[in-house]
Amino acid sequence: MLITEELTYRHSDSFELTSIDLHIKQGEIVSLLGPNGSGKSTFLRLISRLITPGSGEVLLNGERLNRMKSQEVARNLAMLPQMQDHQLDVTVGELVEFGRHPHRSGYGKLSREDQEIIDWAIGVTKLEKYKNRMLQSLSGGERQRAWIAMAIAQRPKVLLLDEPTTYLDISHQLEVMELVTQLNETYGMTVIMVLHDINQAASYSDRLIVLKDGSVRFDGIPQCVLCKEMFHSIFEIDAEIFMNNGKYFFTPSTLEKGECYEG
Ligand code: ADP
Ligand code: MG
Repeated sequence: MLITEELTYRHSDSFELTSIDLHIKQGEIVSLLGPNGSGKSTFLRLISRLITPGSGEVLLNGERLNRMKSQEVARNLAMLPQMQDHQLDVTVGELVEFGRHPHRSGYGKLSREDQEIIDWAIGVTKLEKYKNRMLQSLSGGERQRAWIAMAIAQRPKVLLLDEPTTYLDISHQLEVMELVTQLNETYGMTVIMVLHDINQAASYSDRLIVLKDGSVRFDGIPQCVLCKEMFHSIFEIDAEIFMNNGKYFFTPSTLEKGECYEG
């Protein structure tokens, strides 16, 4: 569904995303992992065409992304950037309405279909009672759901999420992860997201791609990517890997057993 061929992008002399060759299948949930500054956001920006590659291609369903019309790109891909402007002076309903923009021919009245999809997006994200509330008045978790509602109102085939759970407490993090699973299972959306919580990524993803210094270092199912060597070479930590209910997870093992921080 989404292929990158020898994708390269240079921000400066000190950072270059190099030769990214990936095939993302339809219906996959893929998490991008890697230290800060490893190029995760740059990669998402490239595949959503917010920036243009220095060389290489992104193919979406066999078509070159850089040849597609903007509306066509937006009908296929929705991107939730890393930090949203929380000062936006709009209601939840108005925000979600923006998501219909790529499907509309002008600024006229919303069609019945637009309205139904907006209501669907608000329903899926459980925001019905907040529809007329100002975005700024919502809690972090509700606001994140509102941004996701806007993205899915685009009815994208591929949903790109840059750190959708950062700054949320654990229950709201899990709520977002469950929503992502539901969008994938019920509506067949392909999801590519950046996560910092490696255990959550392993638990909710079909595939993990680990970047470091602008290149892909590990790519595979969680069971294969979660290994001591990955933690050592990418994050420079020692880790123990465990399995519970078919899910893989790790704990860092730099502290000796029983040792605790004495502050
Ligand atoms: P990540 O999302 O993995 O933390 P990014 O893709 O945001 O990493 O950034 C990768 C590298 O590119 C970093 O070193 C960052 O400082 C640099 N970078 C990101 N955006 C820009 C930009 N607009 N101009 C120059 N350098 C940038
Ligand atoms: Mg980032």
